[in-house]
Amino acid sequence: MTSSSSNSSKAKDLKNLLTPLEKTAKQLEISAPNRQSIFDKAVAYTEQYLENLKEATVYYRDYERSKTLFDHPINEEAVDFNHLLTLYKDYVEKDGLNAASGGHLGYIPGGGLYPAALGDFIADVTNRYAGVFFANPGAVRMENMMIRWMRDLVGFPETTEGHLASGGSMASLSAIVTARDAYELKGADFANTVVYMTDQVHHAIHKALRIGGLGEVVQRAVPMDEGYRMIPKALKAQIEADRKEGLKPWMVVGSAGTTDVGAVDPIEGIAEITRQQNLWLHLDAAYGGFFLLCESGQERLKGLDQADSIVMDPHKGLFLPYGTGALLVKKGQYLHQSHYYKAAYMQDADEASGEISPSELSPELTKHFRGLRMWLPLKLFGLKAFRAALEEKIQLARYFYERLRNTTGIEVGPYPDLSVVLFRYVPESGDPDDFNARLIQAVHEDGRIFMSSTTIEGHVYLRAAILSFRTHLATMDQAYEVLMEKVEELED
Ligand SMILES: *Cc1c(COP(=O)(O)O)cnc(C)c1O
Repeated sequence: MTSSSSNSSKAKDLKNLLTPLEKTAKQLEISAPNRQSIFDKAVAYTEQYLENLKEATVYYRDYERSKTLFDHPINEEAVDFNHLLTLYKDYVEKDGLNAASGGHLGYIPGGGLYPAALGDFIADVTNRYAGVFFANPGAVRMENMMIRWMRDLVGFPETTEGHLASGGSMASLSAIVTARDAYELKGADFANTVVYMTDQVHHAIHKALRIGGLGEVVQRAVPMDEGYRMIPKALKAQIEADRKEGLKPWMVVGSAGTTDVGAVDPIEGIAEITRQQNLWLHLDAAYGGFFLLCESGQERLKGLDQADSIVMDPHKGLFLPYGTGALLVKKGQYLHQSHYYKAAYMQDADEASGEISPSELSPELTKHFRGLRMWLPLKLFGLKAFRAALEEKIQLARYFYERLRNTTGIEVGPYPDLSVVLFRYVPESGDPDDFNARLIQAVHEDGRIFMSSTTIEGHVYLRAAILSFRTHLATMDQAYEVLMEKVEELED
């Protein structure tokens, strides 16, 4: 045993060491006036950004400029907040795709509702932990409330469990792992197991299968109709043929809104088959799911409640900023079985059993408190505004489709199921694929609006995906003008 006097001298030494450390470490805690000052600067910056958003370029290609960021490495010195905002403005805000703009009509847009940012702000300042019920009953209840709200929207029963993920890809991974375990698939089964989807399924599904260890599973591309929707009859025939061959049909992945054309697979017809054949039905509604909130969407999405699992992306159809996807699993115990883990250092948390904890239903333990960024805008605006915005998107797609359909030289794709319009221009002479590849380049170089292109059955098409809450009639008229202007330039 050491003497108490030497103990106290050691403590004294440590105190002497701690005093200067504390002084410097306390720089991490900002005083109230300084906090207010940088907060005001951040708000002034975002206000200016939003004010200019209507006139701002939607796409600007410069792959070089942002390299300058590397000339400002992280080092020992503190840097003035204004300078950092300038770096952000010059090297992050300006280049590439302005995804907050209503003129973003490429890929699948979303927008970034302002109150969601405030939700993140509050969640981050208070740093509430939404992983386990014990740590924050309210945060967990808020997240679970969002899951239950989506459950009711879809028409799933009370046995449903789910979680808020970072996006559709992570939610899909969880879904596929859950379906794998629900059917007790083991390594030895993989090569005989079959999953069914169409060629239009999102690559997140292929990715999830591979990451989920299921790369060897037989993947069948079920034939599609002229609207790029799965043909249930063909699905049934393929399943029966596979059974005859001794294979094990396992899962069907249907799309409730494909990325390329927004096509909704005939869900009710597919569900009838998966029920009869005892297959897991997963629906990828990452893009289309929230159209359930509007009348025209409901018509198209009939039967969603018959799936075993559904993925939907609040950062698309609810217009949240990037970083929120959702998974719902009808028989919630399967989701729990695949994701639950017990650990000794979590034993205090086990006692609190008021609500199921998100960490028991997702690969994440520590997670961003996503519930707040979703709850806040839904409550603040009320559902009415969301319903109108989604109905507006569907009608805008129809409007744009009609304008294109009546334009000489334009060949439209299928009538939009939801809010994606597929089309191409067929030039008077020359290769249409080459022309449309140049057309999308010209649209990108122009930058007033943004669209993206895709290749379907070997041919290049342009697509307008309408889902930003900032996209309105004037946006679509401008998109049409830009297109016609570029067509004319290229034809000359
Ligand atoms: C966007 C999308 C995904 C992928 O979701 P992320 O949120 O980008 O990870 C999957 N499927 C469909 C149909 C999508 O539109």
